[in-house]
Amino acid sequence: MPFRGCRGSASAPPSAWPIGCCCGNQDQLRELQVALERAGRELTLCDRCGNLTTHDRNPCRICTDTSRNKKLLCVVEGAPDIQLLEQAGTYPGVYMCLRGKISPMQDETVTRRILEQLIARIREDGVAEVLLALNTDVESDATCSMLAEVLRPLGVKVTRLAFGLPAGSGIAYSDPVTLQRAMKGRQPV
Ligand SMILES: [Zn+2]
Repeated sequence: MPFRGCRGSASAPPSAWPIGCCCGNQDQLRELQVALERAGRELTLCDRCGNLTTHDRNPCRICTDTSRNKKLLCVVEGAPDIQLLEQAGTYPGVYMCLRGKISPMQDETVTRRILEQLIARIREDGVAEVLLALNTDVESDATCSMLAEVLRPLGVKVTRLAFGLPAGSGIAYSDPVTLQRAMKGRQPV
């Protein structure tokens, strides 16, 4: 059921729309509550990749799609990242969601479990390339470095999404780190 009315700022992603802006309308609040309750009942995380799916479709539609290239595994931090990459419509492989970042501050058993799942998946599917589609903050950079260190001895190619200027943006609006990475990732035209 689409949630009508509240749209927040046009430039903000849907996840950033303030729920508080609906507070004056009890019907909309009730509609939102019902939608959230239903989503909580029907949705779960795919046992195989961590994507959002329904209880009656687990593994998810991507994991069970025989046309997908299972030798190309894209690692993301959260299930919403999978939806965004799917919207781009160019990725032919499958996914695995870390459900966060890997941090030295994290419980060691959690880190070990994530790495064991990832390595098992690589071996099971004969993965040839792991694409790290993580964020660009310091903790994500550290997660990428750690994963690359663990995965390279397995003989798997480890790549990371290229960095560059956002579409529709300009140099004047970019921070120094983005410009530095865009310069390193320059392409022939
Ligand atoms: Zn899945």
